[in-house]
Amino acid sequence: MTTLRDIPSVERLLQTRPAAEMVATFGRNLTLDALRSTLEDIRTRVKAEQLTTLPSMDLILADAESRVATWTKPTLLPVINATGVILHTNLGRAPLSDASIRAMDAVSRGYSNLEYDLDKGTRGSRLSHAESILKKLTGAEAAVIVNNNASAVMLLLAALANKKKVVISRTQLVEIGGGFRVPDVMKQSGAKLVEVGTTNRVHLSDYEEAIDKSTALVMHAHRSNFKIVGFTEEPPLDDIVNAAHAAGVPFVSDLGSGAFLDTAQYGLAHEPTVQETLVAGADLVCFSGDKLLGGPQAGIIIGDAQLIAKIRKHPLARAVRADKTCIAGLTATLLHYLKDEPDREIPIWRMVCLTLKQVKGRAEAWKLELGHGEIVEGESTVGGGSLPGESFKTYLLALDVKSPDRALKKLREQNPPIIARTEDNRILLDPRTVLPEQEGALIVGIKNALKI
Ligand SMILES: *Cc1c(COP(=O)(O)O)cnc(C)c1O
Repeated sequence: MTTLRDIPSVERLLQTRPAAEMVATFGRNLTLDALRSTLEDIRTRVKAEQLTTLPSMDLILADAESRVATWTKPTLLPVINATGVILHTNLGRAPLSDASIRAMDAVSRGYSNLEYDLDKGTRGSRLSHAESILKKLTGAEAAVIVNNNASAVMLLLAALANKKKVVISRTQLVEIGGGFRVPDVMKQSGAKLVEVGTTNRVHLSDYEEAIDKSTALVMHAHRSNFKIVGFTEEPPLDDIVNAAHAAGVPFVSDLGSGAFLDTAQYGLAHEPTVQETLVAGADLVCFSGDKLLGGPQAGIIIGDAQLIAKIRKHPLARAVRADKTCIAGLTATLLHYLKDEPDREIPIWRMVCLTLKQVKGRAEAWKLELGHGEIVEGESTVGGGSLPGESFKTYLLALDVKSPDRALKKLREQNPPIIARTEDNRILLDPRTVLPEQEGALIVGIKNALKI
């Protein structure tokens, strides 16, 4: 008969070699917690008379070790994105360039001149770093960098339109996802929405009738994740800007993705660029750092110096300011555009630029290594609130499986987890979004998961 008194004490377990190793790896407190929690379970089972013999010391220690390993395992992990969705919001959007990662590493390792003017030896501004590059790239007068584009929109409206009217078309009262609804954000910021037009059509006269001296802003929000097709109308951007300016009202555009390159040159639909929106006369443009820009999570507002000065002074600006790693990474990403090397250096643009031949070559190499599968034509997408409904040709490696859901789960259980898609009892893997340095792990993971 097993009794509670036969169970080893924490003190005795602590004197063993495995426990000493656990203390060295995980620290004394966690080791104690794990040992106690294992022993508590054993006690409960002994009391319930579920145990005829006690587990050995080794088994008890192994159980405690697996507990502490589970507790300390990070939940945020790198994964392999084989979905073909380049900006996958659930998978962390844009992977960063080497230069951006190095810049972020350098400023986070030690001190930096984040808010220090090295020339004068006095206090400086954290915004000055990315601002000069943004000005050079876009010709804008000034810039503000915040935490993300949602906060950029909120800040912009709170600073410039609190308790005032903002004219926006009903064709643009969009929901981006994750609870970001343009009308809700506008209301939250204290702005008073003046909706014009209908869901599918808005005319210049709608804007002209709505804009008056008491209007604070005319706003545009990019339809990032859907298209309106059929009986639709929207006046050209220049005309709306002119209508706003005729009444002395600034025009602001929430571009969402913030492309600096013309996506049309890669066989995709045209996504409005930052530069052309400024050329059309927008007084302020805001966009994300981690969508088509291909940098770290950030919100960027550029444009008129006086409006930017007001935005910088608003208390919310402090609440949503960008941190030093973001500013360092963003600056390095922007520099790729200035040096005319985004398609060589920025991972998402490298993925967009991959030729069909290159994609097919990689899929064929995977097939060869696995000794399984078939190369099929398919579609990659940009995703992440850019180019809705747009896709471009790719080649996929298709693997036959009995149960696609089980196979997907097995792939997700690999280290690093592999995220793929399925179609007709087949697993589909798109080389376009798999980083070249992950290919080895991908092959090992697939073999392991699918037992091939
Ligand atoms: C994605 C998007 C946002 C939100 O940007 P985040 O950087 O994700 O906060 C806002 N507006 C539009 C039009 C978008 O597409």
